[in-house]
Amino acid sequence: MAEPANVESNAAADCVFCRIGARQLEAMVVYEDPEIIAFRDINPQAPAHVLISPKRHYATLYEFQQQDPALLGRLLAAALQIGQQERLAARGFRLVLNHGVEGGQTVQHVHLHLLGGRPFNWPPG
Ligand code: AMP
Ligand code: ZN
Repeated sequence: MAEPANVESNAAADCVFCRIGARQLEAMVVYEDPEIIAFRDINPQAPAHVLISPKRHYATLYEFQQQDPALLGRLLAAALQIGQQERLAARGFRLVLNHGVEGGQTVQHVHLHLLGGRPFNWPPG
């Protein structure tokens, strides 16, 4: 059996967020630039729930940090812009990065959650 050409093309074929980033899978996109895509969560936990994700496949935050540390900052900048777009900057919102099993990461492609439109508790559950 033929080996996949490279890991990245393999990831794009198998990974839901890679497929959304490549516009091969439908999503409610609220922001896009050449490196980042942001779309509404399919199972929203608040009136506004947006996922902000690099288009390239990074399974974990550590992989992302190693391979493109500057993009981490640009991901946060995109989230802040989306907070304004969603008219949440003044009332407030929550940003969440789930990492690993105990962090509650279920999709193995890095994504930042922006949640807003209701108050949130602290500490989180
Ligand atoms: P996490 O638990 O941090 O890995 O978050 C994964 C999030 O992705 C969950 O909130 C899911 O509801 C969301 N999700 C999974 N598949 C899709 C999809 N196709 N479109 C939008 N959101 C999705
Ligand atoms: Zn991916």
